[in-house]
Amino acid sequence: MSVATVSLSGVGKAFGPATILHDVSIEVAHGEFVALVGPSGSGKSTLLRMIAGLEEVTSGEIRIDGRVVNDVPAKARDVAMVFQNYALYPHMTVAQNLGFALRMRRLPRAEIGRRVGEVARSLNLEELLDRYPRQLSGGERQRVATGRAIVRQPQVFLFDEPLSNLDAALRVHVRAELRALHRKVGVASIYVTHDQVEAMTMADRIVVLRGGRIEQIGAPLDLYDRPASIFVATFIGSPA
Ligand code: ADP
Ligand code: MG
Repeated sequence: MSVATVSLSGVGKAFGPATILHDVSIEVAHGEFVALVGPSGSGKSTLLRMIAGLEEVTSGEIRIDGRVVNDVPAKARDVAMVFQNYALYPHMTVAQNLGFALRMRRLPRAEIGRRVGEVARSLNLEELLDRYPRQLSGGERQRVATGRAIVRQPQVFLFDEPLSNLDAALRVHVRAELRALHRKVGVASIYVTHDQVEAMTMADRIVVLRGGRIEQIGAPLDLYDRPASIFVATFIGSPA
């Protein structure tokens, strides 16, 4: 039997007296792209942050490649996260931004150059390597932020509304790029969005969160054809 790349079983989260996630169980296979959707405040970011190791797990278990990681610190997890506010290092060039995590890991200079070149090629950043972030458009910055995450070659990719700062036309374009990249790199991706069109067009499966609980998990067409509740039907059927 193959082991899911990411597996959450009975995961809960409390901040003081407030329990904001309840008994969340999700399995994401190698190569799978899962969208996590739900209204603001439903616990999407907190769930991603727990998988990344940026937030402690209150109950249940998180496994990556079969290993329980509840007590494994963020930097020792094979996970990369791309945020909505992808703050690039302003005083570093694109090439330096891309290579930063590898310099921190003390990889040999030639290996860093090779990996940065590879990532720049796959994200169409080759012409931009000597520019500074302020000299880039929003879409270009987004690509650099993505590149900065994949250069480490993580097993797991977490995206927290990475396109919400881009205008609509660009969003469609970068969406396709991210999906193609996922296909190429073959990792397990969890993609948070509040945009159901994004979820429907990008995801192999969609997880719907509501008030910290899973409302439904299914392929996009399953949710569309057989929504488990009025809540899911309204979410899937509403305009972006
Ligand atoms: P989403 O990303 O779906 O909008 P979040 O995961 O950011 O939701 O937040 C879920 C709930 O947890 C919200 O009610 C939020 O106020 C609360 N929350 C998030 N982070 C903290 C924190 N550090 N301390 C207390 N409450 C928090
Ligand atoms: Mg959020």
